[in-house]
Amino acid sequence: MSEQDSEPVLDVDFFRRWLTTAAASMEREADHLTQLDSAIGDADHGSNLQRGFRAVTGALEKEPPATPGATLVLAGRQLISTVGGASGPLYGTLLRRTGKALGDSAEVTPAQLAEALGAGVAAVAQLGGAKAGDKTMIDALEPAVAALATSFAAASAAAEEGAVATVPLQARKGRASYLGERSIGHQDPGATSSALLIAALAATAGE
Ligand SMILES: [Mg+2]
Repeated sequence: MSEQDSEPVLDVDFFRRWLTTAAASMEREADHLTQLDSAIGDADHGSNLQRGFRAVTGALEKEPPATPGATLVLAGRQLISTVGGASGPLYGTLLRRTGKALGDSAEVTPAQLAEALGAGVAAVAQLGGAKAGDKTMIDALEPAVAALATSFAAASAAAEEGAVATVPLQARKGRASYLGERSIGHQDPGATSSALLIAALAATAGE
């Protein structure tokens, strides 16, 4: 097989590095996420994800999973059990469902990851009853999944763009929706942390 034919193969180490990179991003951006959440929520998004992703990295060290799918399922379980409120179950569902969709393969292609992540995002949308434009995680995640067909870098840019595009929106789901029109003018914390997760994916892929 010539070099240009070879598609990158994502193994268990890639997924472990993705999650540890995401954990480092949540540490670095915790104050910013909490600041965003204090404007239209209850000021705990940064500390919640910090705690959750610390539990993820701890669990990955303690009982290293053998496959990409098992890595994401373990991470999702940790987030559900350590993060209260809505974001734990939503992030946990995202990673668990994506991991389940990857199955038992030792290696997956970017195309397989894109399809699995699509299933994960659909599960989040269903759990939260949210669709694009509701000012939630979905506003970053849906464009990211669509752009994954192009590249990890494109997915990261699309997620960041989607997060920024939540600023003028009025929240229709989640705690921010209680504020009605007062939710306008603030970037959604969940869309922002979702963009961090996708940026970590691109960074892990070296893009
Ligand atoms: Mg909150």
